[in-house]
Amino acid sequence: MAKIFCVANQKGGVGKTTTTVNLAAGLAQAGQRVLMIDLDPQGNATMGSGVDKRQLELTVYDVLLESATIEEARVTSQKLVDAGCSYDVLGANRELAGAEVELVDVERREKRLRQAIQEVASQYDFVLIDCPPSLSMLTLNGLCCAHGVIVPMQCEYFALEGLTDLVNTIKQVHANLNKELAIIGLLRVMFDPRITLQLQVSEQLKQHFGDKVFNTVIPRNVRLAEAPSYGVPGVVFDPASKGAQAFVTFAAEMVERIKVM
Ligand code: ADP
Ligand code: MG
Repeated sequence: MAKIFCVANQKGGVGKTTTTVNLAAGLAQAGQRVLMIDLDPQGNATMGSGVDKRQLELTVYDVLLESATIEEARVTSQKLVDAGCSYDVLGANRELAGAEVELVDVERREKRLRQAIQEVASQYDFVLIDCPPSLSMLTLNGLCCAHGVIVPMQCEYFALEGLTDLVNTIKQVHANLNKELAIIGLLRVMFDPRITLQLQVSEQLKQHFGDKVFNTVIPRNVRLAEAPSYGVPGVVFDPASKGAQAFVTFAAEMVERIKVM
């Protein structure tokens, strides 16, 4: 049965999508069966996985509205197949922005995705969900499905502040909607060891959160930022780059983590 993880942080631009697609590629490269779900109407994780969001006939939106199953809506990118690290993609595009309103009067609306994933969970080792930069109904749908939340964060002064809201939301979801949910870990991303403040915040994180901080640190690396314009994760775009290698290491850390879950 798949272990399901949300990549969440209500801040934008902190590296959620980069983490999701590169972890997916790293896991696939390691022989894991992966489904990547894009829950952000921006569709960046979809595009960054080599899938054109404008050409999609079915997306996660149709799954949330129960007009399609995941089996019907998932796709794969030939680019990733050719690179030997293919994962399935349940894509998103602008249509998804409407789901929030359309599901307003629906019962158990926060559990729609959970139900849909259950039908395919036996086909995967990992399901990774890229959340939008908000604590909206879409993120709630993600959190309701997940065993764990991966929180990418930059080691900056305000990083800890935003964390409080996310931790509280996760506690509420845990108490009311999904008993299995836990923060699996904080992932330090875009890390630059030359900046003293980043080293300090990194130390603070370890003091506060202990082994909830992943061992792997993702460095700031321009190849990771360039990869999306080629429609592939950095792990595929430039496997020798420091950023790609860090995500391969992180994938190995996740494979170890789920053994004890
Ligand atoms: P989010 O999904 O949280 O909004 P993204 O993953 O889209 O964040 O990242 C925001 C921007 O930072 C993107 O332009 C991305 O390419 C860039 N970026 C993410 N991680 C790194 C990194 N480790 N090194 C350099 N650039 C990065
Ligand atoms: Mg994103």
